[in-house]
Amino acid sequence: MKNLLYFLFFGLLACQSQAQKVETQPEPPQTAQAFSSKKQGISQEKTMNYDSLYRKLPDSAMVELIRWDDSFELDIRYATTNNFTGKVLYDCSRCFLRKKTAEDLILAQKEFKKLGYRIKIFDGYRPHSVQWKLWNAVTDKRYVSNPKKGSMHNRGCAVDLTLTDEKGKELDMGTTYDFFGKEAHWNYANLKPEVLKNRQLLKNVLAKYGFGTVPNEWWHYSYRKVIYPVRNEPIPCE
Ligand SMILES: [Zn+2]
Repeated sequence: MKNLLYFLFFGLLACQSQAQKVETQPEPPQTAQAFSSKKQGISQEKTMNYDSLYRKLPDSAMVELIRWDDSFELDIRYATTNNFTGKVLYDCSRCFLRKKTAEDLILAQKEFKKLGYRIKIFDGYRPHSVQWKLWNAVTDKRYVSNPKKGSMHNRGCAVDLTLTDEKGKELDMGTTYDFFGKEAHWNYANLKPEVLKNRQLLKNVLAKYGFGTVPNEWWHYSYRKVIYPVRNEPIPCE
Protein backbone atom coordinates (compact mmCIF):
# COMPACT_ATOMS: atom_id res chain seq x y z
CA MET A 1 0.00 0.00 0.00
CA LYS A 2 2.80 2.34 0.95
CA ASN A 3 4.61 1.54 -2.28
CA LEU A 4 1.45 2.17 -4.24
CA LEU A 5 0.97 5.56 -2.62
CA TYR A 6 4.61 6.34 -3.31
CA PHE A 7 4.17 5.40 -6.95
CA LEU A 8 0.99 7.43 -7.28
CA PHE A 9 2.66 10.40 -5.67
CA PHE A 10 5.53 10.32 -8.14
CA GLY A 11 3.07 9.73 -10.99
CA LEU A 12 1.12 12.78 -9.92
CA LEU A 13 4.29 14.83 -9.86
CA ALA A 14 5.19 13.64 -13.34
CA CYS A 15 1.75 14.66 -14.65
CA GLN A 16 2.02 18.00 -12.93
CA SER A 17 5.42 18.53 -14.51
CA GLN A 18 4.10 17.73 -17.95
CA ALA A 19 1.22 20.11 -17.49
CA GLN A 20 3.70 22.86 -16.65
CA LYS A 21 5.89 22.02 -19.68
CA VAL A 22 8.76 21.36 -17.31
CA GLU A 23 11.91 20.16 -18.94
CA THR A 24 13.59 18.05 -16.33
CA GLN A 25 16.34 16.20 -18.13
CA PRO A 26 17.00 12.49 -17.73
CA GLU A 27 20.35 11.52 -16.27
CA PRO A 28 22.48 8.48 -17.05
CA PRO A 29 21.40 5.64 -14.73
CA GLN A 30 24.84 5.36 -13.17
CA THR A 31 24.78 8.99 -12.07
CA ALA A 32 21.10 9.37 -11.22
CA GLN A 33 21.53 8.29 -7.64
CA ALA A 34 18.49 8.19 -5.41
CA PHE A 35 18.41 10.76 -2.67
CA SER A 36 17.67 8.78 0.41
CA SER A 37 20.31 6.91 2.35
CA LYS A 38 18.11 3.84 2.08
CA LYS A 39 18.14 3.92 -1.73
CA GLN A 40 21.88 4.55 -1.77
CA GLY A 41 22.26 1.33 0.17
CA ILE A 42 23.54 3.32 3.10
CA SER A 43 22.51 2.31 6.59
CA GLN A 44 20.73 4.85 8.74
CA GLU A 45 23.03 3.97 11.64
CA LYS A 46 24.45 7.13 13.11
CA THR A 47 27.81 5.48 13.53
CA MET A 48 28.08 4.81 9.79
CA ASN A 49 31.05 6.42 8.12
CA TYR A 50 29.35 8.54 5.50
CA ASP A 51 32.64 10.06 4.41
CA SER A 52 33.95 6.81 2.94
CA LEU A 53 30.54 5.88 1.54
CA TYR A 54 29.87 9.21 -0.10
CA ARG A 55 33.36 9.34 -1.61
CA LYS A 56 32.57 6.20 -3.60
CA LEU A 57 29.52 7.80 -5.27
CA PRO A 58 29.71 9.57 -8.65
CA ASP A 59 30.17 13.37 -8.56
CA SER A 60 26.58 13.91 -9.69
CA ALA A 61 25.01 11.83 -6.89
CA MET A 62 22.74 13.64 -4.48
CA VAL A 63 24.14 13.52 -0.96
CA GLU A 64 22.96 14.87 2.36
CA LEU A 65 25.36 17.58 3.43
CA ILE A 66 25.21 17.14 7.20
CA ARG A 67 25.67 13.38 6.99
CA TRP A 68 29.01 14.12 5.36
CA ASP A 69 29.96 17.01 7.66
CA ASP A 70 27.77 17.69 10.68
CA SER A 71 29.35 21.06 11.46
CA PHE A 72 26.89 22.88 9.18
CA GLU A 73 23.90 24.51 10.81
CA LEU A 74 20.59 24.12 8.99
CA ASP A 75 17.68 26.53 8.91
CA ILE A 76 15.82 25.25 5.85
CA ARG A 77 13.24 27.99 5.54
CA TYR A 78 11.07 26.40 2.84
CA ALA A 79 10.45 23.47 5.21
CA THR A 80 8.80 26.00 7.56
CA THR A 81 6.32 28.86 7.27
CA ASN A 82 9.18 31.29 7.96
CA ASN A 83 9.70 32.17 4.30
CA PHE A 84 8.34 34.79 1.94
CA THR A 85 5.44 32.58 0.82
CA GLY A 86 4.35 31.88 4.42
CA LYS A 87 3.81 28.25 3.39
CA VAL A 88 5.61 24.97 4.10
CA LEU A 89 7.01 23.91 0.71
CA TYR A 90 9.29 20.99 1.62
CA ASP A 91 8.24 17.73 3.21
CA CYS A 92 11.38 17.65 5.35
CA SER A 93 14.03 19.99 6.67
CA ARG A 94 17.07 18.53 4.94
CA CYS A 95 19.84 19.82 2.69
CA PHE A 96 20.83 17.71 -0.32
CA LEU A 97 23.45 18.72 -2.88
CA ARG A 98 25.32 17.09 -5.72
CA LYS A 99 28.31 15.26 -4.34
CA LYS A 100 30.82 17.53 -6.11
CA THR A 101 29.07 20.66 -4.82
CA ALA A 102 28.90 19.30 -1.27
CA GLU A 103 32.55 18.25 -1.37
CA ASP A 104 33.75 21.77 -2.23
CA LEU A 105 31.34 23.38 0.24
CA ILE A 106 32.86 21.22 2.97
CA LEU A 107 36.32 22.51 2.01
CA ALA A 108 35.01 26.08 2.31
CA GLN A 109 33.49 25.21 5.70
CA LYS A 110 36.89 23.96 6.90
CA GLU A 111 38.44 27.29 5.96
CA PHE A 112 35.67 29.27 7.67
CA LYS A 113 36.09 27.18 10.83
CA LYS A 114 39.78 28.06 10.98
CA LEU A 115 38.68 31.71 10.99
CA GLY A 116 36.16 31.07 13.79
CA TYR A 117 33.02 30.93 11.65
CA ARG A 118 30.59 28.31 10.37
CA ILE A 119 28.20 28.13 7.45
CA LYS A 120 24.48 28.18 8.16
CA ILE A 121 22.34 26.87 5.29
CA PHE A 122 18.94 28.28 4.34
CA ASP A 123 18.43 26.18 1.20
CA GLY A 124 20.15 23.61 -1.00
CA TYR A 125 18.52 21.28 -3.53
CA ARG A 126 15.03 22.50 -4.35
CA PRO A 127 12.55 20.31 -6.30
CA HIS A 128 11.54 21.83 -9.62
CA SER A 129 7.86 21.82 -8.66
CA VAL A 130 8.72 24.12 -5.73
CA GLN A 131 10.45 26.49 -8.17
CA TRP A 132 7.05 27.03 -9.83
CA LYS A 133 5.48 27.79 -6.45
CA LEU A 134 8.16 30.39 -5.67
CA TRP A 135 7.89 31.87 -9.17
CA ASN A 136 4.12 32.22 -8.83
CA ALA A 137 4.43 33.72 -5.33
CA VAL A 138 7.02 36.41 -6.07
CA THR A 139 6.02 39.67 -7.73
CA ASP A 140 9.55 40.87 -8.58
CA LYS A 141 10.84 38.14 -10.92
CA ARG A 142 14.48 39.25 -10.41
CA TYR A 143 14.47 37.25 -7.19
CA VAL A 144 13.40 33.82 -8.43
CA SER A 145 14.85 31.95 -11.42
CA ASN A 146 12.38 31.19 -14.19
CA PRO A 147 11.31 27.56 -13.73
CA LYS A 148 11.21 27.13 -17.52
CA LYS A 149 15.01 27.32 -17.42
CA GLY A 150 15.36 25.75 -13.99
CA SER A 151 17.26 27.17 -11.05
CA MET A 152 20.71 26.08 -9.94
CA HIS A 153 18.92 24.95 -6.76
CA ASN A 154 16.85 22.54 -8.91
CA ARG A 155 20.14 21.12 -10.18
CA GLY A 156 21.53 20.56 -6.67
CA CYS A 157 24.27 23.09 -7.46
CA ALA A 158 23.29 26.12 -5.35
CA VAL A 159 23.18 27.02 -1.70
CA ASP A 160 21.63 29.89 0.21
CA LEU A 161 23.72 30.56 3.29
CA THR A 162 25.22 32.90 5.84
CA LEU A 163 27.94 32.71 8.49
CA THR A 164 27.69 32.33 12.25
CA ASP A 165 30.30 33.19 14.86
CA GLU A 166 31.69 30.92 17.60
CA LYS A 167 28.56 31.50 19.69
CA GLY A 168 26.28 30.52 16.82
CA LYS A 169 25.16 34.11 16.21
CA GLU A 170 24.64 35.11 12.59
CA LEU A 171 27.07 37.70 11.24
CA ASP A 172 25.47 40.98 10.21
CA MET A 173 24.90 40.76 6.44
CA GLY A 174 22.73 43.90 6.32
CA THR A 175 19.42 42.21 5.51
CA THR A 176 17.56 39.03 6.36
CA TYR A 177 17.48 36.00 4.03
CA ASP A 178 15.14 36.45 1.04
CA PHE A 179 15.02 40.22 1.52
CA PHE A 180 13.81 41.41 -1.86
CA GLY A 181 15.25 44.92 -2.06
CA LYS A 182 18.32 46.88 -3.12
CA GLU A 183 19.99 46.50 0.30
CA ALA A 184 20.57 42.81 -0.52
CA HIS A 185 22.25 43.58 -3.87
CA TRP A 186 25.97 43.21 -4.42
CA ASN A 187 26.24 46.66 -6.04
CA TYR A 188 24.62 48.40 -3.05
CA ALA A 189 27.42 49.89 -0.98
CA ASN A 190 25.51 52.13 1.44
CA LEU A 191 25.94 49.63 4.27
CA LYS A 192 27.92 49.49 7.50
CA PRO A 193 31.63 48.66 6.94
CA GLU A 194 31.13 45.54 9.07
CA VAL A 195 28.36 44.31 6.73
CA LEU A 196 30.49 44.91 3.64
CA LYS A 197 33.38 43.10 5.29
CA ASN A 198 31.21 40.11 6.23
CA ARG A 199 29.75 39.79 2.75
CA GLN A 200 33.21 40.04 1.21
CA LEU A 201 34.53 37.33 3.52
CA LEU A 202 31.73 35.02 2.41
CA LYS A 203 32.42 35.79 -1.24
CA ASN A 204 36.22 35.50 -1.07
CA VAL A 205 36.32 32.11 0.64
CA LEU A 206 33.49 30.55 -1.39
CA ALA A 207 35.02 31.78 -4.67
CA LYS A 208 38.15 29.75 -3.91
CA TYR A 209 36.05 26.58 -3.99
CA GLY A 210 34.08 27.32 -7.15
CA PHE A 211 31.04 29.18 -5.81
CA GLY A 212 29.87 32.39 -7.49
CA THR A 213 27.41 35.11 -6.58
CA VAL A 214 24.30 36.47 -8.30
CA PRO A 215 23.70 40.27 -8.42
CA ASN A 216 20.60 40.62 -6.21
CA GLU A 217 21.04 38.16 -3.33
CA TRP A 218 24.03 38.23 -0.95
CA TRP A 219 23.03 34.79 0.42
CA HIS A 220 22.96 32.88 -2.89
CA TYR A 221 25.95 30.93 -4.23
CA SER A 222 25.98 28.84 -7.39
CA TYR A 223 28.56 26.17 -8.01
CA ARG A 224 30.38 27.11 -11.23
CA LYS A 225 32.69 24.17 -11.90
CA VAL A 226 30.05 21.90 -13.39
CA ILE A 227 26.33 21.93 -14.15
CA TYR A 228 23.89 19.05 -13.73
CA PRO A 229 20.32 18.50 -14.96
CA VAL A 230 17.21 19.82 -13.23
CA ARG A 231 15.50 17.36 -10.88
CA ASN A 232 12.05 17.20 -9.38
CA GLU A 233 12.10 14.51 -6.70
CA PRO A 234 10.63 15.74 -3.41
CA ILE A 235 13.04 16.12 -0.51
CA PRO A 236 12.85 12.67 1.12
CA CYS A 237 11.87 12.24 4.74
CA GLU A 238 13.50 8.85 5.26
ZN1 LIG B 1 19.45 30.69 -3.88
